[in-house]
Amino acid sequence: DVVYRKFGGCNTVSIIDRYITKSKINIVIKNISHTLRKDFFMCGIIGYIGTKKCVPKLIGALEALEYRGYDSAGVAYIKNGNVEIKKEKGKIKNLKDTLDMDVDAYIGIGHTRWATHGEANNINAHPHKNGKVTLVHNGIIENYIEIKEDLKKKGYKFTSETDTEVAAALLDELYSKNSDMVKSLHEASKIIRGSYAFVILVDGDDNIYASRCASPMIVAIGNDGYYVASDVPAILAYTNKYMLLNDYDIVKLSKDKIEIYDKDLNEIEKEIKFFEGSMDAATKGGFEHFMLKEINEQDKVFKDTVNYYFDGTIKSLEKSFSYLKNFKKIDIVACGSAYHTGVVGKYLIENYANIPVNVEVASEYRYKKCFYDKDTLVVLVSQSGETADTLAALRKAKVDGITTMAIVNVVGSSIAREADYVTYIKAGFEIAVATTKAYLAQLAIFSLIALYLGYENKNINENEFNELVKEYNNLPALIKETINNDNYSTIADKIYDKKQIFFIGRGIDYALSLEASLKLKEISYINSVAYQAGELKHGTISLIEKDTPVIAISTDDSLREKTISNIKEVKARGAYVVYVTNETPQEKFYDDIITIKKIHPILESILTIIPLQLLSYKVAKDNGCDIDKPRNLAKSVTVE
Ligand code: GLU
Repeated sequence: DVVYRKFGGCNTVSIIDRYITKSKINIVIKNISHTLRKDFFMCGIIGYIGTKKCVPKLIGALEALEYRGYDSAGVAYIKNGNVEIKKEKGKIKNLKDTLDMDVDAYIGIGHTRWATHGEANNINAHPHKNGKVTLVHNGIIENYIEIKEDLKKKGYKFTSETDTEVAAALLDELYSKNSDMVKSLHEASKIIRGSYAFVILVDGDDNIYASRCASPMIVAIGNDGYYVASDVPAILAYTNKYMLLNDYDIVKLSKDKIEIYDKDLNEIEKEIKFFEGSMDAATKGGFEHFMLKEINEQDKVFKDTVNYYFDGTIKSLEKSFSYLKNFKKIDIVACGSAYHTGVVGKYLIENYANIPVNVEVASEYRYKKCFYDKDTLVVLVSQSGETADTLAALRKAKVDGITTMAIVNVVGSSIAREADYVTYIKAGFEIAVATTKAYLAQLAIFSLIALYLGYENKNINENEFNELVKEYNNLPALIKETINNDNYSTIADKIYDKKQIFFIGRGIDYALSLEASLKLKEISYINSVAYQAGELKHGTISLIEKDTPVIAISTDDSLREKTISNIKEVKARGAYVVYVTNETPQEKFYDDIITIKKIHPILESILTIIPLQLLSYKVAKDNGCDIDKPRNLAKSVTVE
């Protein structure tokens, strides 16, 4: 329990595993299955059997899947009847350096791992071998602890921290009874809870086996062999002929045939599809840009992130966030968009938890005099978990003996490892430099923190809590609806050629203005500034002239009248005003309006940011900008 609390309930099982081995402390593990819910996995899988040497095929496929993100890579192939495994942390290049590309092997499997259980290192990299079974896996085995304990009693030993190795051992156990991998996979599907795409080699067997549940997988047919892969881009350099698999389908690939069995073990025929699009289209899943794809993933990201910590009961939040009650002050420290989620977090936590929150840009915080003490929690927010300034701020707080908590996306990243507590967002791999889904997932975490502390402080009563549970459940559908509701494109066409664009708002709407403005300028290169609506008249209003775009956000009822007065001030000076709101205005003091559904203030910012992301996207597109890779910017800023 001590370790569980210390590490904040995330990936706790593997941390506990490590802790037990390191310090020989006997810890009773209980009630932690909530840390192991379904996830969003982006890793890559490939299997090849055919007449060509397999290693170049496997590496080519893994390279084609690189865009999905990974932290280690590995292959296994059959050479002279034996399975050989090579795996390396880091880029595929590291793996290639250890490989003989010309090795005389025609059956092989490969994997790029996006760590979920156990940090990214050589031991945890896939393939994993236990007994006769060598396997690569995409997904999470939720009940792996139970299975592992059971297998240990039967004499199985484990070398990695992964859930995957447990699946290998389980399949070995079943195979030792059945001598039939198809049957063993069928039986395993009844034992395993969670998500998986497995590709498997078995000692002494010249076939490849595969199966899936909730993680994607296809089978492809080439001129020189068969493939099994997590997605079309993996096989496009070799063939465009493929078949889709359903959950629990089991595949056996031999040199000269493909056998596919359904969940009841009936052999089935699959429709063969022909992929006609380009590689680019395949990797972007039909979207024109990764940014647009990622914006469209936000309903799922919200759901995955929230469900990981919250099952609708206060108890579930208690498990992950109870330690927050120990602090009287919070410093949120971050850079860029993560800093902006911190500003939203400040408003939410101060409003609902009655705790003063100080939000600071990490590059400043790391060098300034900090007035923190033992009652302060320093919260570091970083998508990559490697942001240099944020990491430096974390280390500074630690040196001063201050408790730290990290909100990060990448499992096992430096910030995640070094912070006292860690809360992972479940955004999956984000490719576009301009963040969207990770930003939204960070907002979701701050909403949960505000909800939990607000309830504990009695600022949110039972009824409001129950209403909020419904809103959390309904929000993914509303997010989707908001993404599909194109109430921004004509506005983008009106402002895309302007020299500067202002965003204004008060309170939490100001926090959103900051992000909306950054999104716009980073991808469209139009100068844009966000202001507290009441602050314009103290200087900036001199920049407003005829047709200067001012995007005014107002979702907070209590501040609405004030914001409207500020809108009228800029309108009177000729501004072109876009009013972003969740109300139906009684008079027309704006030029265009973007309306968002009215929901609880704890969640409203999650909806409000969506049309603003899409507006920036469209403005950048109108300007012909390189949307996914804006000039001068990097995805993960690991320099000071
Ligand atoms: N859960 C597995 C691991 O952490 C697989 C992760 C993946 O999908 O890459 O090793």
